[in-house]
Amino acid sequence: MAVLFAPDPTTLPVIGSEDRFPVRRVYCVGRNYLDHIREMKEGSERDLPFFFQKPADAVASEKAAISYPSQTSDFQHEVELVVAIGSTAVDIPVERALEVVYGYGVGVDLTRRDRQRESFRKGLPWEIGKSFDQSAPCGPIHPADKVGHLLAGAIMLEVNGTTRQKGDLSQMIWNTPEIIAHLSASYRLAPGDLIMTGTPAGVGPLVPGDRVTASVEKLTPLSFLIGPMER
Ligand code: MN
Repeated sequence: MAVLFAPDPTTLPVIGSEDRFPVRRVYCVGRNYLDHIREMKEGSERDLPFFFQKPADAVASEKAAISYPSQTSDFQHEVELVVAIGSTAVDIPVERALEVVYGYGVGVDLTRRDRQRESFRKGLPWEIGKSFDQSAPCGPIHPADKVGHLLAGAIMLEVNGTTRQKGDLSQMIWNTPEIIAHLSASYRLAPGDLIMTGTPAGVGPLVPGDRVTASVEKLTPLSFLIGPMER
């Protein structure tokens, strides 16, 4: 018995199954597509990959609407391929990294861009800009043994039917095996970990009432509405 409350685990549906994928941690890769680094005008194009985290309970699964967050007037979308880890990895070499992938999904790294830029400038942590409630809407997980490994394919995001972001997974600076290898040098990856692999160019603001549709070739698209601020 837990004191106060029994926490609800965060889980994601698994395509083709009644079972669900349990979420342990959410790692995110920063600046992983050249055209996005250029539009942000911050950071170097040759840096090693760097990582930040979102809390597991920021993953919003099967939510019809995401509340507009407090403390921002520049709330932005970033469509990303989500890699779901299925087994433990420590210092895994690039050549073996795909062995620990359970599957893939579509996610959106929701960002308080004004707060994130302020953190850059002041040398402060990124949490306020990146790791807030409902900041990681995520679609169902497709097992890799059904869908294969996704190293290329279209990635896009529409707002109210208009294309905002359009790219290809092959444009990643650090591809999925390289990301897993790098991460596993600093953290013990474990079943249930999600990795959001970065976003192509075209990030932009969202307002209440917007309908967001995010997609990656071969995966079930993710669609949600931006609702009013709710606290
Ligand atoms: Mn991102």
